[in-house]
Amino acid sequence: MKVSKRITIKGIVQGVGFRPFIYRLAFRHSINGTVSNNSSGVIVEAEGTEKSLANFLKDIKLKAPRGAKIKEIICESAPTRHFNSFKIVPSRKEEKREAFIPPDIATCGDCIKELLDKRDRRFRYPFINCTNCGPRYTIIKDIPYDRPATTMNKFVMCDSCENEYLDPLNRRFHAQPNACPNCGPSIELLDSEGNKLHVAEPISFVSRKLKEGALLALKGLGGFHLTCDARNDRAVERIRSIKKRRDKPLAVMVPDMETATELAFLEKKDKEILNSCESPIVLAKKKENSSISPLIAPYLDEIGIMLPYTPLHHLLLKEFKGPLVMTSGNPSGTPILHKNEDALKLFRSLVDYFLLHNRDIHIRIDDSVIRIIQSTPMILRRARGYTPSLMDLGFKSKTTVLALGGMLKATFTFVRDDKAIVSQYFGDLSNPDNLNFYMEVLEHIRKLYGFKPDCVVCDLHPDYPTTILAEQISAELNCRLIKVQHHIAHLMSAAAEHNFYEDFIGVALDGTGYGLDGNIWGGEIFWGKEDKLKRIAHIDYFWLPTGDKGIEEPWRIAFSLLFNVLGDKALESNWIAIRRKSIPVNDFLKVLALSKHPLTSSSGRLLDAVASLLNIRDKITYEAQAAIELETLADKHEEGFYYTPISNLNLNPYHLIEEILLEQNRGVAAHKISARVHNTLARWILNVAQKIRDEKGINHVVLSGGVFQNRYLLLNTLKLLKENGFRVIFNSTIPINDSGISFGQAVIGALRSRE
Ligand code: ZN
Ligand code: ZN
Ligand code: FE
Repeated sequence: MKVSKRITIKGIVQGVGFRPFIYRLAFRHSINGTVSNNSSGVIVEAEGTEKSLANFLKDIKLKAPRGAKIKEIICESAPTRHFNSFKIVPSRKEEKREAFIPPDIATCGDCIKELLDKRDRRFRYPFINCTNCGPRYTIIKDIPYDRPATTMNKFVMCDSCENEYLDPLNRRFHAQPNACPNCGPSIELLDSEGNKLHVAEPISFVSRKLKEGALLALKGLGGFHLTCDARNDRAVERIRSIKKRRDKPLAVMVPDMETATELAFLEKKDKEILNSCESPIVLAKKKENSSISPLIAPYLDEIGIMLPYTPLHHLLLKEFKGPLVMTSGNPSGTPILHKNEDALKLFRSLVDYFLLHNRDIHIRIDDSVIRIIQSTPMILRRARGYTPSLMDLGFKSKTTVLALGGMLKATFTFVRDDKAIVSQYFGDLSNPDNLNFYMEVLEHIRKLYGFKPDCVVCDLHPDYPTTILAEQISAELNCRLIKVQHHIAHLMSAAAEHNFYEDFIGVALDGTGYGLDGNIWGGEIFWGKEDKLKRIAHIDYFWLPTGDKGIEEPWRIAFSLLFNVLGDKALESNWIAIRRKSIPVNDFLKVLALSKHPLTSSSGRLLDAVASLLNIRDKITYEAQAAIELETLADKHEEGFYYTPISNLNLNPYHLIEEILLEQNRGVAAHKISARVHNTLARWILNVAQKIRDEKGINHVVLSGGVFQNRYLLLNTLKLLKENGFRVIFNSTIPINDSGISFGQAVIGALRSRE
């Protein structure tokens, strides 16, 4: 007895070799029918015996291709159509665009084998790919995902490639970027001035030059990288000066796992993520005395490592046989470059060589960054490999929501039905180039998916470019505008990622976010649920001298705190004496003369100030540098903490400063004090959480906010809370920093639509 089914497979199932996979499965299980892509996903019309259909369905789930992420399989009975074969039918456009754009996938094992096989027709071909790997998101101009809608449309496949492309049993069946040396993209080597160099083996040539200390601008998958030998101080210094990036750590690409383990301590999960098809930068504890230049990650105990993820990387790293700096090719704080002409203009005479190619990057994207905490991957920068993938909300939104996020590490999020698409990372939107990049991708994604928002969500901050944009969009579309407090958005980003919509105790430790009372928040404890969170405790307000200047120069905050504690005696303090040379006396007096605004409860700024008080850093060159170096210094075995009297559950920063001064007078070392300050914050969280639990009976704690990127603080807080019986939720796939804000905002917009 033949049975007929219509199977709809939703999730990331297009552009990952899903149809040929279904074809081969159907072949194996003697199923007749068709498979097609439509905008909802992959549709299979299947006829076979009850048993073969059941096995077929089981294998769809079990054996799906490596890049596929199945979210849902719907199997319905269908009228019998008496198919006598199994066919793949071409895509067609449909009104409702629900299909998912697949992210880019790192080169697969099969392709690497062919790449290195002398007998293969793609031996050493830098653009080898198949349905299991290769560019996707970066080359897609429209959906459905077919070759004409990609930047590969300008290359006409040769007969051999076309045969592969048309053969359902071939690994390259409908591999949209399929190409070979005869018909596909090619590389081009240029010198420092942009003149073409004709060398037989450009990759070997470049690899030799890199060994000699040369700088290379390398066009990759999502944009340009600047590359040099990671062991060569002089070369690393040159990259830093091009990027105008003094201290911020640079990522390193290594040829293989063996080299990776020479540079850093890697656990099982680190290796798993390094090897994954997303292939992000993994942050791991660096090994002392490795060959790497100390200029790669100065003053830090971590290093960012990744493995080759394109065939070009594989070829280059195989020849080079060592660690290469692989940092996005752009001046610090601007979007990654993706056009040959822009790179040639910007880096002319600055780098020694350009290795370009002629496959256009339609949407540029940065490398993603991940840190593993207790076997949980925390995505800190969500970009290549992870976007644009979908998040399940766990409930259905009645409206289409567009949330525009914050300002730093910006992202946007669309919500439709029960799914959210979180955009890639865009950096600081106060930079107009970043804002343009953000707008460009916003429009691209809106068009691809056909989103028509009926609700726009933004931050409370009146001056964020995203707030202004949200006001414009809501006026243009005449739709609802919702403003969400920054830390409530942080906490909901963590809770909703885990589909947790019950009451919780929410702890937001953060840099800065606009508070409900107009002050700058960043050390807040709430209770409640969804957007009905009530603030119950915070770090007592202290003064943030000169607003943004204070963020770049933590000594100002340190001084104002010191002055509050010591009064005029602060001017005769040891701390001032140490700074006689570096900071003019007048600057101290200027700080005192400023109006005492704004006030802040920011834990990030408090830690910055402590870093200055402990003489670790007075001025920063990248976001949170002082606090990060304070964490690096902390004695990780120190268990002591300061007793801070809790009045109204708040943490009093002045008491903390008093304790630090006492300790310094006693001659306690900075690494001890640093640890104790962190431990004090963790204790405070525990104390407040216990009070709330006693009163309200809530046992779940949600942690979010950029300051929880601090490993020592996060691990300590987790330990204390768990030891005391709390269930703790924190961000994993949605960044815990401001890249998570748009998702939290979108969730609140969607939740409100249910009312
Ligand atoms: Zn492949
Ligand atoms: Zn070809
Ligand atoms: Fe934040």
